[in-house]
Amino acid sequence: MNENKGRIKILGVPVDMIDKEQAFSKFEKLFPEPGVTKIFTPNSEIVQNASKDESLKELVGSADIIIPDGIGLVYASRIVGHPLKERVTGIDFLESCIAYLEKNGKSIYFFGSKPGVAEKAAAKIKEKYPKLIVAGCHHGYFKPEDEPAIVQQINDSGADFLCVALGAPKQEKFINDHAAELSVRGAIGVGGSLDVWSGDLKRAPEFYQKHGLEWLYRFIQQPSRFGRMMKLPVFMLKVIAQGKSQEE
Ligand code: UDP
Repeated sequence: MNENKGRIKILGVPVDMIDKEQAFSKFEKLFPEPGVTKIFTPNSEIVQNASKDESLKELVGSADIIIPDGIGLVYASRIVGHPLKERVTGIDFLESCIAYLEKNGKSIYFFGSKPGVAEKAAAKIKEKYPKLIVAGCHHGYFKPEDEPAIVQQINDSGADFLCVALGAPKQEKFINDHAAELSVRGAIGVGGSLDVWSGDLKRAPEFYQKHGLEWLYRFIQQPSRFGRMMKLPVFMLKVIAQGKSQEE
């Protein structure tokens, strides 16, 4: 692990050494600047996958803001001696961006999840942020050849900010592949956040969130994720092994 401009590396994969407040300050500073501010929200599963895949590692590192989403990363950062203050969940960070967009009269485009989910999520978000301008919505089940038309739709909508919920690493690839053609000012990959906002997937109650047990709640809701969940202990063991080898 090493540190570079406020970035730490876990299993060789970069994440920003930031808490919620610092993450938002970074966004507020970068968003008005020209070009697309790319925001990724990797959890320990993505970090573990990227540690074995150079191109994925590079993709994660290409983001302007790399939010450490996941209690596994917080534990890992302690093990490697550069403790992250807290976990910054992608969904909470997205909400701070939404509050900012509403306050500043900027618009958002929701892209991803099953047909109808983005629209439902947008309606729920507007109940809480009534002045938010929703420039458009598009579901996330498309063929690669549809991508140029989707990029066109996003640009035609005039959206300032793009929220991409395609799961990782599809969402990161989409943002990176099209950053040069997209006319939005910022884009974030948010995994299953639209499913939570729409009500299709319940977020863990506060007890689970406070005790770093969101993964357990998610497993209870979606037992099919068992295989993916079992990657967490493997991830922790790898981080411990790497920490030990660096001490020697
Ligand atoms: N999704 C999508 N297109 C796809 C695959 C997935 O829009 O081709 C959506 C899926 O419906 C879900 C979201 O991506 O709303 C995130 O999926 P998952 O829960 O697997 O994400 P992660 O755990 O990686 O955040």
